Amino acid sequence: MSSETIPVLIIGAGPTGLNLANLLLQYKIPFRLIEQKDAAITTSNALAVQSRSLEMWQQMGVVEKALAAGKKILGLALHSGTKKIGEISFKQVNLPTQFPFILGLPQADSEHLLSEHLLSQGGKIERGSTLIDFTQTDQTVIAEIQTATGQKEKIACDWLIAADGSHSVVRKKLNLAFEGDTIPEKFIMADMAINANFNPEYFHAFSSPLGPLVFAPMPKFTRIIAPVTHDQGIKDFTQPTLADFEYIIANRSPAGVKIDSVVWMSHFVTHHRMINNYCHGRVIFAGDSAHIHSPVGGQGMNTGMQDTFNLAWKLAAVIQKKSTPRLLASYNTERHAVAKKVLAGTTKMTEIVTLKNAFLIALRNTVMSLLFKISLVQKKIIMNISELGISYDPNEIIFPSAGQRALHPELFQDTKHTLVLFTGGSAFEKNAKDIIRLAQSVMHQYADYFTVLIISESDKHFPNLNVQVDPDYQLHDSYNMQNGGMCIVRPDQYIGMLQAAITQANVVEYLQRLKC
Ligand SMILES: Cc1cc2nc3c(=O)[nH]c(=O)nc-3n(C[C@H](O)[C@H](O)[C@H](O)COP(=O)(O)OP(=O)(O)OC[C@H]3O[C@@H](n4cnc5c(N)ncnc54)[C@H](O)[C@@H]3O)c2cc1C
Repeated sequence: MSSETIPVLIIGAGPTGLNLANLLLQYKIPFRLIEQKDAAITTSNALAVQSRSLEMWQQMGVVEKALAAGKKILGLALHSGTKKIGEISFKQVNLPTQFPFILGLPQADSEHLLSEHLLSQGGKIERGSTLIDFTQTDQTVIAEIQTATGQKEKIACDWLIAADGSHSVVRKKLNLAFEGDTIPEKFIMADMAINANFNPEYFHAFSSPLGPLVFAPMPKFTRIIAPVTHDQGIKDFTQPTLADFEYIIANRSPAGVKIDSVVWMSHFVTHHRMINNYCHGRVIFAGDSAHIHSPVGGQGMNTGMQDTFNLAWKLAAVIQKKSTPRLLASYNTERHAVAKKVLAGTTKMTEIVTLKNAFLIALRNTVMSLLFKISLVQKKIIMNISELGISYDPNEIIFPSAGQRALHPELFQDTKHTLVLFTGGSAFEKNAKDIIRLAQSVMHQYADYFTVLIISESDKHFPNLNVQVDPDYQLHDSYNMQNGGMCIVRPDQYIGMLQAAITQANVVEYLQRLKC
Protein backbone atom coordinates (compact mmCIF):
# COMPACT_ATOMS: atom_id res chain seq x y z
CA MET A 1 0.00 0.00 0.00
CA SER A 2 1.20 3.55 -0.75
CA SER A 3 2.55 4.81 2.58
CA GLU A 4 0.90 8.19 2.38
CA THR A 5 -2.82 8.97 2.77
CA ILE A 6 -3.91 11.38 0.06
CA PRO A 7 -6.79 13.78 0.69
CA VAL A 8 -8.85 12.89 -2.41
CA LEU A 9 -9.02 9.97 -4.82
CA ILE A 10 -11.22 10.62 -7.85
CA ILE A 11 -12.53 7.60 -9.74
CA GLY A 12 -13.20 8.40 -13.38
CA ALA A 13 -11.84 11.04 -15.76
CA GLY A 14 -15.08 11.84 -17.58
CA PRO A 15 -16.25 15.46 -17.54
CA THR A 16 -17.25 15.21 -13.87
CA GLY A 17 -13.93 13.81 -12.61
CA LEU A 18 -11.86 16.10 -14.82
CA ASN A 19 -13.80 19.17 -13.75
CA LEU A 20 -13.41 18.30 -10.09
CA ALA A 21 -9.67 17.67 -10.53
CA ASN A 22 -9.21 21.10 -12.10
CA LEU A 23 -11.16 22.75 -9.29
CA LEU A 24 -9.18 20.95 -6.58
CA LEU A 25 -5.96 22.14 -8.21
CA GLN A 26 -7.22 25.71 -7.80
CA TYR A 27 -7.66 25.01 -4.08
CA LYS A 28 -4.23 23.36 -3.91
CA ILE A 29 -5.79 20.12 -2.63
CA PRO A 30 -3.64 17.07 -3.43
CA PHE A 31 -5.55 14.32 -5.25
CA ARG A 32 -5.14 11.32 -7.52
CA LEU A 33 -7.38 10.87 -10.55
CA ILE A 34 -7.65 7.37 -11.97
CA GLU A 35 -9.32 6.37 -15.22
CA GLN A 36 -9.82 2.82 -16.43
CA LYS A 37 -9.61 3.73 -20.12
CA ASP A 38 -6.14 3.84 -21.66
CA ALA A 39 -6.99 6.75 -23.92
CA ALA A 40 -9.35 9.70 -24.01
CA ILE A 41 -12.71 9.25 -25.75
CA THR A 42 -13.00 10.42 -29.34
CA THR A 43 -16.77 10.13 -29.76
CA SER A 44 -19.23 12.74 -28.70
CA ASN A 45 -22.20 12.27 -26.39
CA ALA A 46 -22.86 15.67 -24.87
CA LEU A 47 -23.03 18.36 -27.48
CA ALA A 48 -24.09 21.32 -25.38
CA VAL A 49 -22.14 23.31 -22.85
CA GLN A 50 -24.62 25.53 -21.03
CA SER A 51 -24.12 29.17 -19.98
CA ARG A 52 -23.74 28.27 -16.32
CA SER A 53 -20.95 25.82 -17.15
CA LEU A 54 -19.22 28.51 -19.21
CA GLU A 55 -19.38 30.83 -16.20
CA MET A 56 -17.77 28.12 -14.11
CA TRP A 57 -15.12 27.56 -16.78
CA GLN A 58 -14.43 31.29 -16.75
CA GLN A 59 -13.45 31.03 -13.10
CA MET A 60 -11.36 27.93 -13.91
CA GLY A 61 -9.57 29.73 -16.75
CA VAL A 62 -10.70 27.50 -19.62
CA VAL A 63 -13.59 29.43 -21.11
CA GLU A 64 -11.60 31.25 -23.79
CA LYS A 65 -10.33 27.97 -25.22
CA ALA A 66 -13.83 26.49 -25.10
CA LEU A 67 -15.27 29.47 -26.97
CA ALA A 68 -12.55 29.22 -29.58
CA ALA A 69 -13.23 25.51 -30.10
CA GLY A 70 -17.04 25.55 -29.96
CA LYS A 71 -19.95 26.82 -32.00
CA LYS A 72 -22.33 29.37 -30.50
CA ILE A 73 -25.94 28.23 -30.77
CA LEU A 74 -27.97 31.44 -30.71
CA GLY A 75 -31.54 30.24 -30.56
CA LEU A 76 -33.94 27.41 -31.04
CA ALA A 77 -36.75 26.87 -33.51
CA LEU A 78 -39.57 24.35 -33.53
CA HIS A 79 -41.15 23.29 -36.83
CA SER A 80 -43.97 21.10 -37.99
CA GLY A 81 -43.31 20.18 -41.60
CA THR A 82 -42.61 23.44 -43.40
CA LYS A 83 -44.41 25.52 -40.78
CA LYS A 84 -42.46 27.18 -37.97
CA ILE A 85 -44.28 26.57 -34.67
CA GLY A 86 -42.13 28.86 -32.59
CA GLU A 87 -38.70 30.34 -32.15
CA ILE A 88 -36.62 31.72 -29.30
CA SER A 89 -33.66 33.99 -29.87
CA PHE A 90 -31.32 33.90 -26.85
CA LYS A 91 -30.35 37.50 -27.59
CA GLN A 92 -33.94 38.71 -27.41
CA VAL A 93 -34.51 36.84 -24.17
CA ASN A 94 -31.70 38.95 -22.70
CA LEU A 95 -30.03 36.28 -20.62
CA PRO A 96 -28.25 37.73 -17.56
CA THR A 97 -24.83 36.31 -18.43
CA GLN A 98 -21.71 37.08 -20.41
CA PHE A 99 -22.42 33.83 -22.29
CA PRO A 100 -25.95 34.21 -23.72
CA PHE A 101 -25.85 31.11 -25.91
CA ILE A 102 -25.43 27.34 -25.80
CA LEU A 103 -21.94 26.32 -26.82
CA GLY A 104 -22.01 23.42 -29.26
CA LEU A 105 -18.92 21.38 -28.37
CA PRO A 106 -18.52 17.61 -28.68
CA GLN A 107 -17.99 15.93 -25.32
CA ALA A 108 -14.62 14.59 -26.49
CA ASP A 109 -13.49 18.19 -27.04
CA SER A 110 -14.78 19.29 -23.64
CA GLU A 111 -12.88 16.44 -22.01
CA HIS A 112 -9.78 17.25 -24.06
CA LEU A 113 -9.95 20.87 -22.93
CA LEU A 114 -10.29 19.89 -19.28
CA SER A 115 -7.50 17.29 -19.54
CA GLU A 116 -5.11 19.72 -21.21
CA HIS A 117 -5.83 22.38 -18.62
CA LEU A 118 -5.28 19.90 -15.81
CA LEU A 119 -1.96 18.75 -17.25
CA SER A 120 -0.83 22.32 -17.92
CA GLN A 121 -1.43 23.16 -14.24
CA GLY A 122 0.65 20.20 -13.04
CA GLY A 123 -2.21 17.72 -12.60
CA LYS A 124 -2.08 14.10 -13.72
CA ILE A 125 -4.53 11.51 -15.05
CA GLU A 126 -3.59 7.92 -14.23
CA ARG A 127 -4.95 6.17 -17.31
CA GLY A 128 -5.39 2.42 -17.42
CA SER A 129 -5.98 2.30 -13.64
CA THR A 130 -9.22 0.71 -12.48
CA LEU A 131 -10.88 0.78 -9.08
CA ILE A 132 -11.54 -2.84 -8.15
CA ASP A 133 -12.74 -2.54 -4.59
CA PHE A 134 -12.61 -0.35 -1.51
CA THR A 135 -13.31 -0.33 2.22
CA GLN A 136 -13.92 2.62 4.50
CA THR A 137 -13.78 3.45 8.18
CA ASP A 138 -14.68 6.69 9.97
CA GLN A 139 -11.13 7.90 9.35
CA THR A 140 -10.15 6.70 5.90
CA VAL A 141 -10.92 4.86 2.66
CA ILE A 142 -8.65 2.13 1.30
CA ALA A 143 -9.09 1.71 -2.45
CA GLU A 144 -7.80 -1.28 -4.37
CA ILE A 145 -6.61 -0.36 -7.84
CA GLN A 146 -5.42 -2.38 -10.78
CA THR A 147 -2.85 -0.28 -12.60
CA ALA A 148 -2.05 -0.10 -16.30
CA THR A 149 0.74 -2.68 -15.85
CA GLY A 150 -1.69 -5.12 -14.23
CA GLN A 151 -0.31 -4.60 -10.74
CA LYS A 152 -2.54 -4.16 -7.70
CA GLU A 153 -2.09 -1.07 -5.58
CA LYS A 154 -3.82 0.00 -2.39
CA ILE A 155 -4.41 3.72 -2.02
CA ALA A 156 -5.41 5.27 1.29
CA CYS A 157 -7.41 8.47 0.95
CA ASP A 158 -9.49 10.75 3.16
CA TRP A 159 -12.28 11.08 0.56
CA LEU A 160 -13.18 8.90 -2.38
CA ILE A 161 -15.13 10.63 -5.14
CA ALA A 162 -17.23 8.39 -7.34
CA ALA A 163 -17.19 10.13 -10.72
CA ASP A 164 -17.28 6.74 -12.39
CA GLY A 165 -20.38 7.21 -14.53
CA SER A 166 -23.75 5.54 -14.81
CA HIS A 167 -22.42 2.00 -14.30
CA SER A 168 -20.58 3.14 -11.15
CA VAL A 169 -18.60 0.35 -9.49
CA VAL A 170 -18.54 2.42 -6.32
CA ARG A 171 -22.33 2.59 -6.25
CA LYS A 172 -22.58 -1.16 -6.83
CA LYS A 173 -20.01 -1.95 -4.12
CA LEU A 174 -22.04 0.10 -1.65
CA ASN A 175 -25.14 -1.70 -2.85
CA LEU A 176 -27.01 1.55 -3.38
CA ALA A 177 -30.29 1.62 -5.22
CA PHE A 178 -30.28 3.60 -8.47
CA GLU A 179 -33.97 4.29 -8.45
CA GLY A 180 -35.93 5.10 -11.57
CA ASP A 181 -36.72 3.61 -14.95
CA THR A 182 -35.50 3.01 -18.44
CA ILE A 183 -37.32 5.36 -20.80
CA PRO A 184 -39.01 3.18 -23.48
CA GLU A 185 -37.62 5.26 -26.31
CA LYS A 186 -34.83 4.32 -28.69
CA PHE A 187 -32.76 6.97 -30.42
CA ILE A 188 -30.37 7.13 -33.33
CA MET A 189 -27.92 9.97 -33.73
CA ALA A 190 -25.18 11.09 -36.06
CA ASP A 191 -22.72 13.87 -36.64
CA MET A 192 -22.94 14.94 -40.28
CA ALA A 193 -22.07 17.79 -42.57
CA ILE A 194 -25.38 18.86 -44.03
CA ASN A 195 -26.71 21.37 -46.47
CA ALA A 196 -29.96 22.91 -45.29
CA ASN A 197 -31.90 26.07 -45.84
CA PHE A 198 -32.51 26.87 -42.18
CA ASN A 199 -30.57 29.16 -39.82
CA PRO A 200 -27.28 27.32 -39.15
CA GLU A 201 -26.86 29.10 -35.79
CA TYR A 202 -30.10 27.73 -34.38
CA PHE A 203 -31.06 24.44 -32.84
CA HIS A 204 -33.96 23.05 -34.94
CA ALA A 205 -36.56 20.46 -33.95
CA PHE A 206 -39.03 19.15 -36.53
CA SER A 207 -42.23 17.53 -35.37
CA SER A 208 -43.77 14.69 -37.42
CA PRO A 209 -46.19 11.80 -36.88
CA LEU A 210 -43.22 9.40 -36.94
CA GLY A 211 -41.49 11.33 -34.18
CA PRO A 212 -39.32 14.42 -34.01
CA LEU A 213 -36.01 15.10 -35.71
CA VAL A 214 -33.45 17.42 -34.18
CA PHE A 215 -30.56 19.28 -35.81
CA ALA A 216 -28.01 20.86 -33.45
CA PRO A 217 -25.12 22.94 -34.79
CA MET A 218 -21.64 21.82 -33.74
CA PRO A 219 -18.26 23.31 -34.64
CA LYS A 220 -17.63 21.39 -37.87
CA PHE A 221 -20.85 19.50 -38.42
CA THR A 222 -24.45 19.08 -37.31
CA ARG A 223 -25.66 16.63 -34.67
CA ILE A 224 -28.82 14.81 -35.80
CA ILE A 225 -30.95 12.99 -33.23
CA ALA A 226 -34.20 11.09 -33.76
CA PRO A 227 -36.29 8.77 -31.59
CA VAL A 228 -37.19 5.76 -33.74
CA THR A 229 -39.09 3.35 -31.48
CA HIS A 230 -42.27 3.45 -33.57
CA ASP A 231 -40.76 4.12 -36.95
CA GLN A 232 -41.12 0.95 -39.02
CA GLY A 233 -38.66 2.38 -41.54
CA ILE A 234 -35.73 1.74 -39.18
CA LYS A 235 -34.80 -1.94 -39.17
CA ASP A 236 -32.11 -2.06 -36.49
CA PHE A 237 -31.66 1.06 -34.38
CA THR A 238 -28.47 -0.36 -32.86
CA GLN A 239 -26.75 -0.24 -36.28
CA PRO A 240 -27.95 2.98 -37.90
CA THR A 241 -26.91 3.48 -41.52
CA LEU A 242 -26.64 6.44 -43.85
CA ALA A 243 -29.81 5.18 -45.56
CA ASP A 244 -31.63 5.33 -42.21
CA PHE A 245 -30.73 8.99 -41.79
CA GLU A 246 -31.66 9.80 -45.40
CA TYR A 247 -35.00 8.11 -44.79
CA ILE A 248 -35.56 9.96 -41.49
CA ILE A 249 -34.64 13.31 -42.97
CA ALA A 250 -36.86 12.75 -46.02
CA ASN A 251 -39.84 11.80 -43.85
CA ARG A 252 -39.55 14.16 -40.91
CA SER A 253 -38.08 17.44 -42.14
CA PRO A 254 -38.94 19.64 -45.09
CA ALA A 255 -37.27 18.94 -48.39
CA GLY A 256 -33.94 20.61 -48.87
CA VAL A 257 -31.77 18.97 -46.19
CA LYS A 258 -28.93 17.10 -47.87
CA ILE A 259 -26.25 15.03 -46.20
CA ASP A 260 -22.78 15.97 -47.48
CA SER A 261 -20.67 13.68 -45.33
CA VAL A 262 -20.89 11.51 -42.22
CA VAL A 263 -18.54 11.80 -39.27
CA TRP A 264 -20.09 9.28 -36.92
CA MET A 265 -23.37 7.40 -36.35
CA SER A 266 -24.63 5.83 -33.15
CA HIS A 267 -27.67 4.95 -31.07
CA PHE A 268 -28.75 5.22 -27.45
CA VAL A 269 -31.49 4.40 -24.99
CA THR A 270 -32.05 6.55 -21.95
CA HIS A 271 -32.87 6.10 -18.31
CA HIS A 272 -33.93 8.34 -15.51
CA ARG A 273 -32.45 7.18 -12.26
CA MET A 274 -30.81 8.64 -9.20
CA ILE A 275 -29.42 7.67 -5.83
CA ASN A 276 -31.00 8.79 -2.57
CA ASN A 277 -27.96 10.37 -1.01
CA TYR A 278 -24.73 11.62 -2.58
CA CYS A 279 -22.67 11.20 0.60
CA HIS A 280 -21.92 7.80 2.17
CA GLY A 281 -19.37 8.20 4.92
CA ARG A 282 -16.16 9.17 3.16
CA VAL A 283 -17.49 8.27 -0.28
CA ILE A 284 -19.14 11.03 -2.31
CA PHE A 285 -20.96 10.72 -5.63
CA ALA A 286 -21.02 13.24 -8.48
CA GLY A 287 -22.23 13.20 -12.08
CA ASP A 288 -23.76 10.21 -13.84
CA SER A 289 -22.86 7.87 -10.97
CA ALA A 290 -25.52 9.76 -8.97
CA HIS A 291 -28.09 10.75 -11.59
CA ILE A 292 -28.84 9.89 -15.21
CA HIS A 293 -31.61 11.15 -17.42
CA SER A 294 -32.70 11.75 -20.97
CA PRO A 295 -30.29 13.89 -23.02
CA VAL A 296 -33.24 16.02 -24.16
CA GLY A 297 -32.31 19.50 -22.96
CA GLY A 298 -28.57 18.76 -22.79
CA GLN A 299 -28.30 18.69 -19.00
CA GLY A 300 -26.38 15.53 -18.01
CA MET A 301 -22.76 16.54 -18.39
CA ASN A 302 -23.52 20.08 -17.27
CA THR A 303 -25.30 18.90 -14.14
CA GLY A 304 -22.38 16.60 -13.28
CA MET A 305 -19.84 19.38 -13.69
CA GLN A 306 -21.99 21.72 -11.60
CA ASP A 307 -22.06 19.04 -8.88
CA THR A 308 -18.31 19.44 -8.65
CA PHE A 309 -18.49 23.26 -8.58
CA ASN A 310 -20.66 22.89 -5.48
CA LEU A 311 -18.53 20.12 -3.98
CA ALA A 312 -14.97 21.35 -4.59
CA TRP A 313 -14.95 24.36 -2.28
CA LYS A 314 -16.71 22.43 0.48
CA LEU A 315 -14.30 19.51 0.22
CA ALA A 316 -11.37 21.96 0.22
CA ALA A 317 -12.75 23.74 3.32
CA VAL A 318 -13.06 20.41 5.14
CA ILE A 319 -9.60 19.19 4.11
CA GLN A 320 -8.04 22.53 5.05
CA LYS A 321 -9.88 22.29 8.40
CA LYS A 322 -11.81 25.50 7.85
CA SER A 323 -15.04 23.51 8.26
CA THR A 324 -15.99 20.18 9.73
CA PRO A 325 -17.17 17.31 7.49
CA ARG A 326 -20.72 18.28 8.39
CA LEU A 327 -20.45 20.95 5.69
CA LEU A 328 -20.63 18.20 3.08
CA ALA A 329 -24.22 17.43 4.02
CA SER A 330 -25.16 20.66 2.24
CA TYR A 331 -23.63 19.26 -0.96
CA ASN A 332 -26.18 16.48 -0.88
CA THR A 333 -29.03 18.80 0.14
CA GLU A 334 -28.35 21.23 -2.67
CA ARG A 335 -27.31 19.01 -5.56
CA HIS A 336 -29.75 16.17 -4.89
CA ALA A 337 -32.62 18.67 -5.12
CA VAL A 338 -31.25 19.99 -8.41
CA ALA A 339 -30.91 16.52 -9.94
CA LYS A 340 -34.44 15.67 -8.85
CA LYS A 341 -35.77 18.69 -10.73
CA VAL A 342 -33.60 18.02 -13.78
CA LEU A 343 -34.78 14.42 -13.88
CA ALA A 344 -38.43 15.42 -13.64
CA GLY A 345 -37.97 18.14 -16.27
CA THR A 346 -36.07 16.06 -18.81
CA THR A 347 -38.46 13.11 -18.39
CA LYS A 348 -41.44 15.39 -19.03
CA MET A 349 -39.68 17.04 -21.98
CA THR A 350 -38.88 13.64 -23.48
CA GLU A 351 -42.51 12.57 -23.17
CA ILE A 352 -43.67 15.78 -24.82
CA VAL A 353 -41.22 15.70 -27.72
CA THR A 354 -41.79 12.02 -28.46
CA LEU A 355 -45.62 12.06 -28.53
CA LYS A 356 -47.10 9.65 -31.09
CA ASN A 357 -50.81 10.36 -31.07
CA ALA A 358 -51.73 12.70 -33.96
CA PHE A 359 -54.29 14.60 -31.88
CA LEU A 360 -51.84 15.12 -29.02
CA ILE A 361 -49.11 16.18 -31.45
CA ALA A 362 -51.43 18.81 -32.95
CA LEU A 363 -52.46 19.96 -29.47
CA ARG A 364 -48.82 20.16 -28.33
CA ASN A 365 -47.84 22.16 -31.41
CA THR A 366 -50.69 24.62 -30.89
CA VAL A 367 -49.86 25.08 -27.20
CA MET A 368 -46.15 25.45 -27.98
CA SER A 369 -46.79 28.00 -30.68
CA LEU A 370 -48.83 30.10 -28.22
CA LEU A 371 -46.37 29.71 -25.33
CA PHE A 372 -43.37 30.51 -27.50
CA LYS A 373 -44.88 33.92 -28.23
CA ILE A 374 -44.83 34.90 -24.53
CA SER A 375 -41.51 36.46 -23.63
CA LEU A 376 -41.73 35.42 -19.97
CA VAL A 377 -42.22 31.80 -21.02
CA GLN A 378 -39.33 32.08 -23.47
CA LYS A 379 -37.09 33.38 -20.71
CA LYS A 380 -38.14 30.66 -18.26
CA ILE A 381 -37.39 27.93 -20.80
CA ILE A 382 -33.95 29.31 -21.58
CA MET A 383 -33.10 30.06 -17.94
CA ASN A 384 -33.79 26.39 -17.23
CA ILE A 385 -31.85 25.00 -20.17
CA SER A 386 -28.87 27.29 -19.57
CA GLU A 387 -28.91 26.26 -15.85
CA LEU A 388 -28.77 29.99 -14.98
CA GLY A 389 -32.13 29.62 -13.27
CA ILE A 390 -30.89 27.08 -10.72
CA SER A 391 -30.97 28.28 -7.14
CA TYR A 392 -30.69 26.56 -3.78
CA ASP A 393 -33.29 26.68 -1.03
CA PRO A 394 -32.26 28.08 2.34
CA ASN A 395 -30.56 25.32 4.32
CA GLU A 396 -27.89 24.71 6.94
CA ILE A 397 -25.50 27.17 5.21
CA ILE A 398 -27.84 29.30 3.10
CA PHE A 399 -29.65 32.06 4.98
CA PRO A 400 -33.30 32.95 4.37
CA SER A 401 -33.87 34.94 1.16
CA ALA A 402 -30.49 33.81 -0.24
CA GLY A 403 -29.51 30.84 -2.46
CA GLN A 404 -29.71 32.53 -5.87
CA ARG A 405 -26.92 32.46 -8.46
CA ALA A 406 -24.90 35.65 -8.00
CA LEU A 407 -25.59 38.11 -10.80
CA HIS A 408 -22.49 39.28 -12.65
CA PRO A 409 -20.52 36.19 -11.65
CA GLU A 410 -17.54 37.59 -13.55
CA LEU A 411 -16.97 39.73 -10.42
CA PHE A 412 -16.49 36.59 -8.35
CA GLN A 413 -13.45 34.86 -9.73
CA ASP A 414 -11.86 34.12 -6.37
CA THR A 415 -11.87 30.69 -4.77
CA LYS A 416 -12.72 32.24 -1.40
CA HIS A 417 -16.08 33.64 -0.37
CA THR A 418 -16.60 37.27 -1.36
CA LEU A 419 -18.09 39.68 1.14
CA VAL A 420 -19.84 42.23 -1.07
CA LEU A 421 -20.60 45.61 0.50
CA PHE A 422 -22.97 47.93 -1.35
CA THR A 423 -22.62 51.57 -0.36
CA GLY A 424 -26.09 52.51 -1.53
CA GLY A 425 -26.91 55.77 -3.26
CA SER A 426 -28.75 58.03 -0.86
CA ALA A 427 -27.53 56.03 2.15
CA PHE A 428 -23.89 56.47 1.17
CA GLU A 429 -22.92 58.90 3.97
CA LYS A 430 -24.51 56.62 6.58
CA ASN A 431 -22.86 53.46 5.25
CA ALA A 432 -19.36 54.58 4.28
CA LYS A 433 -17.76 54.41 7.75
CA ASP A 434 -19.38 51.05 8.57
CA ILE A 435 -18.19 49.69 5.25
CA ILE A 436 -14.57 50.70 5.77
CA ARG A 437 -14.57 49.36 9.33
CA LEU A 438 -16.14 46.04 8.33
CA ALA A 439 -13.96 45.60 5.24
CA GLN A 440 -10.76 46.15 7.23
CA SER A 441 -11.86 43.96 10.08
CA VAL A 442 -12.86 41.03 7.82
CA MET A 443 -9.64 41.31 5.81
CA HIS A 444 -7.69 41.26 9.04
CA GLN A 445 -9.55 38.53 10.93
CA TYR A 446 -11.03 36.25 8.28
CA ALA A 447 -8.67 36.54 5.34
CA ASP A 448 -8.64 32.74 4.96
CA TYR A 449 -12.36 32.75 4.25
CA PHE A 450 -13.15 36.03 2.51
CA THR A 451 -12.10 38.56 0.00
CA VAL A 452 -13.97 41.85 0.25
CA LEU A 453 -15.52 43.75 -2.63
CA ILE A 454 -17.05 47.19 -2.22
CA ILE A 455 -19.58 48.29 -4.80
CA SER A 456 -19.77 52.04 -4.96
CA GLU A 457 -20.51 54.90 -7.30
CA SER A 458 -16.82 55.87 -7.06
CA ASP A 459 -13.64 54.47 -5.51
CA LYS A 460 -12.32 57.71 -4.10
CA HIS A 461 -13.66 57.12 -0.58
CA PHE A 462 -12.10 53.67 -0.28
CA PRO A 463 -8.34 53.93 -0.82
CA ASN A 464 -6.49 50.57 -0.67
CA LEU A 465 -9.72 48.61 -0.79
CA ASN A 466 -11.09 46.48 -3.60
CA VAL A 467 -13.82 48.55 -5.26
CA GLN A 468 -16.08 47.84 -8.20
CA VAL A 469 -17.19 51.21 -9.49
CA ASP A 470 -20.92 51.33 -10.18
CA PRO A 471 -21.45 54.84 -11.64
CA ASP A 472 -25.04 54.37 -12.71
CA TYR A 473 -25.99 52.03 -9.86
CA GLN A 474 -26.77 49.15 -12.20
CA LEU A 475 -25.14 46.61 -9.88
CA HIS A 476 -26.99 48.09 -6.92
CA ASP A 477 -30.23 47.78 -8.86
CA SER A 478 -29.61 44.21 -9.96
CA TYR A 479 -29.06 43.20 -6.32
CA ASN A 480 -31.90 45.41 -5.10
CA MET A 481 -29.41 47.25 -2.88
CA GLN A 482 -30.28 50.87 -3.67
CA ASN A 483 -30.07 51.70 0.04
CA GLY A 484 -26.91 49.72 0.63
CA GLY A 485 -26.41 46.34 2.23
CA MET A 486 -24.21 43.28 2.13
CA CYS A 487 -24.16 39.86 0.62
CA ILE A 488 -21.85 36.89 0.82
CA VAL A 489 -21.09 35.14 -2.45
CA ARG A 490 -19.77 31.60 -2.18
CA PRO A 491 -16.88 30.33 -4.29
CA ASP A 492 -19.41 28.59 -6.57
CA GLN A 493 -21.01 32.00 -7.23
CA TYR A 494 -24.18 31.37 -5.22
CA ILE A 495 -25.38 33.82 -2.59
CA GLY A 496 -25.12 32.45 0.95
CA MET A 497 -26.40 35.54 2.76
CA LEU A 498 -28.14 38.75 1.72
CA GLN A 499 -28.75 41.50 4.29
CA ALA A 500 -29.82 45.13 4.26
CA ALA A 501 -27.82 45.83 7.43
CA ILE A 502 -24.03 46.10 7.16
CA THR A 503 -22.76 44.50 10.36
CA GLN A 504 -19.94 42.26 11.43
CA ALA A 505 -22.47 40.17 13.35
CA ASN A 506 -23.85 38.96 10.01
CA VAL A 507 -20.42 37.81 8.90
CA VAL A 508 -19.78 36.05 12.19
CA GLU A 509 -23.14 34.31 12.04
CA TYR A 510 -22.43 33.13 8.49
CA LEU A 511 -19.01 31.86 9.49
CA GLN A 512 -20.41 29.95 12.43
CA ARG A 513 -22.70 28.02 10.13
CA LEU A 514 -19.96 27.50 7.55
CA LYS A 515 -17.54 26.13 10.08
CA CYS A 516 -20.31 23.80 11.34
C1 LIG B 1 -26.44 10.46 -26.73
C2 LIG B 1 -26.13 11.31 -25.56
C3 LIG B 1 -26.17 12.68 -25.71
C4 LIG B 1 -25.89 13.49 -24.62
N1 LIG B 1 -25.95 14.86 -24.76
C5 LIG B 1 -25.70 15.65 -23.71
C6 LIG B 1 -25.68 17.08 -23.84
O1 LIG B 1 -25.89 17.63 -24.90
N2 LIG B 1 -25.40 17.82 -22.74
C7 LIG B 1 -25.13 17.24 -21.54
O2 LIG B 1 -24.90 17.96 -20.56
N3 LIG B 1 -25.09 15.89 -21.38
C8 LIG B 1 -25.36 15.09 -22.44
N4 LIG B 1 -25.29 13.73 -22.30
C9 LIG B 1 -24.92 13.15 -21.00
C10 LIG B 1 -23.40 13.09 -20.79
O3 LIG B 1 -22.78 12.38 -21.82
C11 LIG B 1 -23.11 12.47 -19.44
O4 LIG B 1 -23.95 13.06 -18.48
C12 LIG B 1 -21.64 12.67 -19.01
O5 LIG B 1 -20.77 11.91 -19.78
C13 LIG B 1 -21.45 12.25 -17.54
O6 LIG B 1 -20.13 12.49 -17.16
P1 LIG B 1 -19.47 11.68 -15.97
O7 LIG B 1 -18.05 12.15 -15.91
O8 LIG B 1 -20.30 11.81 -14.76
O9 LIG B 1 -19.54 10.16 -16.39
P2 LIG B 1 -18.81 9.45 -17.63
O10 LIG B 1 -18.71 10.37 -18.78
O11 LIG B 1 -19.50 8.17 -17.82
O12 LIG B 1 -17.34 9.21 -17.09
C14 LIG B 1 -17.05 8.24 -16.11
C15 LIG B 1 -15.61 7.80 -16.28
O13 LIG B 1 -15.28 6.90 -15.23
C16 LIG B 1 -14.50 5.85 -15.77
N5 LIG B 1 -14.64 4.68 -14.87
C17 LIG B 1 -15.75 3.95 -14.68
N6 LIG B 1 -15.51 2.96 -13.78
C18 LIG B 1 -14.22 3.10 -13.40
C19 LIG B 1 -13.38 2.38 -12.48
N7 LIG B 1 -13.84 1.33 -11.77
N8 LIG B 1 -12.09 2.78 -12.32
C20 LIG B 1 -11.63 3.84 -13.04
N9 LIG B 1 -12.37 4.55 -13.92
C21 LIG B 1 -13.66 4.19 -14.09
C22 LIG B 1 -15.09 5.63 -17.15
O14 LIG B 1 -14.16 4.98 -18.01
C23 LIG B 1 -15.39 7.05 -17.59
O15 LIG B 1 -14.33 7.64 -18.29
C24 LIG B 1 -25.56 12.90 -23.37
C25 LIG B 1 -25.51 11.51 -23.24
C26 LIG B 1 -25.80 10.71 -24.32
C27 LIG B 1 -25.76 9.22 -24.17
